Amino acid sequence: MDSSLRFQVVEEAFKKTPLQVEMPKERPSEYFGKYVFTKQKMRKYLSVEVYDKLIDVIDKGARLDRRIADDVAAGMKQWAMEMGATHYTHWFQPLTEGTAEKHDAFVEHDGKGGMMEVFTGKLLVQQEPDASSFPNGGIRNTFEARGYSAWDPTSPVFIIDDTLCIPTIFIAYTGEALDYKAPLLRALHAVDVAATDVCRLFHDNVTKVHVNLGWEQEYFLVDEGLYSARPDLVLTGRTLMGHESAKNQQMDDHYFGTIPDRVQAFMKDLEVQALQLAIPCKTRHNEVAPNQFELAPIYEECNLSVDHNMVLMSLMKKIARKHGFRCLLHEKPFDGINGSGKHQNWSLTTNTGILLHAPGKTPEDNLRFVVFIVETLMAVYRHNGLMKASIMSATNAHRLGGNEAPPAIISSFLGSQLTELLNHIEESDKNELFTLKGKKGMQLDIPQIPELVVDNTDRNRTSPFAFTGNRFEFRAPGTAANCACAMIVLNTAMAEALQSFRQRVDMRMSKGENKVSAILEVLKEDIKICKPVRFDGNGYSEAWVEEAARRGLDVENSCPVIFEHYLDESSVKMFETTQVMTRKELEARNEVKWEMYVKTVQIEARVMGDLSMNHIIPVATHYQSKLIRNVQGMKNVFPSEKAEKLSARNLKLIEEIAERTERIEQLVEELTDARRVANRVENIHQRAIDYHDTVCPKMDAIRYEIDHLEMIVEDGLWTLPKYRELLFIR
Ligand code: ADP
Ligand code: MG
Repeated sequence: MDSSLRFQVVEEAFKKTPLQVEMPKERPSEYFGKYVFTKQKMRKYLSVEVYDKLIDVIDKGARLDRRIADDVAAGMKQWAMEMGATHYTHWFQPLTEGTAEKHDAFVEHDGKGGMMEVFTGKLLVQQEPDASSFPNGGIRNTFEARGYSAWDPTSPVFIIDDTLCIPTIFIAYTGEALDYKAPLLRALHAVDVAATDVCRLFHDNVTKVHVNLGWEQEYFLVDEGLYSARPDLVLTGRTLMGHESAKNQQMDDHYFGTIPDRVQAFMKDLEVQALQLAIPCKTRHNEVAPNQFELAPIYEECNLSVDHNMVLMSLMKKIARKHGFRCLLHEKPFDGINGSGKHQNWSLTTNTGILLHAPGKTPEDNLRFVVFIVETLMAVYRHNGLMKASIMSATNAHRLGGNEAPPAIISSFLGSQLTELLNHIEESDKNELFTLKGKKGMQLDIPQIPELVVDNTDRNRTSPFAFTGNRFEFRAPGTAANCACAMIVLNTAMAEALQSFRQRVDMRMSKGENKVSAILEVLKEDIKICKPVRFDGNGYSEAWVEEAARRGLDVENSCPVIFEHYLDESSVKMFETTQVMTRKELEARNEVKWEMYVKTVQIEARVMGDLSMNHIIPVATHYQSKLIRNVQGMKNVFPSEKAEKLSARNLKLIEEIAERTERIEQLVEELTDARRVANRVENIHQRAIDYHDTVCPKMDAIRYEIDHLEMIVEDGLWTLPKYRELLFIR
């Protein structure tokens, strides 16, 4: 424990200069996808016949003919080796955050005492990684610890460093998904089928519905030296203590301000490498909090977009280190200033056009638009608790509900025009088609309805699920999350809503009702049902929490309790009827969620205890002794009455330090006890709840004392870099 380290790293951080980034000579459009086995490269490295078959698999969801696997593998290997790759890996997304890979070299014995490069269809299509240590919620007992990774041809292989990465799903030998990608692909399939069915009520030529996802990745950068002087950041990803800086984000001067040079260099480097991996980076800017930034790509097909986000997050971490930073992807690394989210912009397109956009070309288009809006609301309404569970984590829990991020209540914002339109349909007793009026507008042939040009000028930044013109923006997901987690739930819920919609319309039509009337009647029903989820007011206000509870929306705050929604009967039914997940898979996943929650809090509690005892209390006591010596010295210099008067402030400080350190010691003991008690709880669900209810509050109480000590202890003695240093130095 030595405060000189703190001053040394602060000084070094000040002196650092931007790294010179060598930019490619070509234009971005030329190096875009350089390290990806794109369709263009497939054409070059595969025979016409194999290429056509593979494209059918990728674009039309045809079954993969195993017989072409060898040829595809050969083409991939040739390309990869030309690019300097020596290894390959099945790249997958286990239920921990992050990705997993096991690298194998291309080499094999050639049978003549030498080596040769080998990569067969068998190795491409399926592998059995020894991944028994990945969390699986008890689906695989260790004696049957078989898990298979299987190639996902819809996400192209890519090269990182010297390794050919093959996106794969990860499943148990009994078929249960052990990852995020497998259920995501099932959910995307379910929504494709259900949405295509609904589209065909309007247009015969719709054969496929794609899901699009455009995420916005927020992150913090912290100087590496300062980072390493904060054991809490290193071990937990967030600061467990630290008094607010006198200046933080009050001035709003960081947002859209100029990007500091060192950060600029990092961003350039990141973007080049991301573009080379075909991640279509588009925007970069500062975020609200100091040292906080955002990167957003152009949206892509959902599965690909999820993979790209995973790749980007690991790129960010790697490249940040090259530039002397650490990239923080924790949702709330610093108390008192904004945390980081990952907005997920979601939309649907058919093989013929866009689904969530108005006005369309024909009245049918407009009606279809309204159907998809309303059924999205139905999905979000029916499963609002589950939607929240899908974005909840021990880390995101710190961010939600603060005065910065959507509250822990899922509601949807539509804007005034759409709201009026839905109200009007609900109240109207005429079942007629929409007619177009004017070039840009969309109108019902019913009076009083204003011409509708749905655009995104009408915005509400406090809504967790807002319609923004041609997409819904889900703002509650946390920055560290795998996007698939929310996308699995949203798309499955949407599939269920659309299935039910189509069934009810068919029922009416089978009784002789005409199509438009049947559609509008079902729409009216649904507009009424899902009304409680529509909320255009201020989502950050206290009043909303009460109002939401009255409306029957889920207002639960406790993370481990929120996870229970995965096992609600309505959730299990939804996942089973859409064939996205079985009850067994859901149960297993929840085990993992609770386990991860416990582990996260456990580590934090340990670090908190250690830092309290070996950083904070010693420093505070050291300062206290200094004060005591001063008080004693005063007595030598002045008559006792005067000495006492002059020492009044120091005496108060001595007392305050004594009280606070005593409380900390007491609380740390209680924290340890609470952990011990919780650890003895056999049931993981209950253990997680205990951690939430008994361990977390102790950490808050300890932090409160520590942050006050930071304010009074002599700055020169404090060992941990302070917020003002972590957040303002570049
Ligand atoms: P804002 O911060 O105003 O929400 P950004 O430009 O930061 O906007 O991000 C917008 C995100 O929305 C990008 O990721 C973009 O690709 C995505 N996006 C835009 N249009 C669509 C769409 N139709 N479907 C899905 N995502 C979209
Ligand atoms: Mg946004």
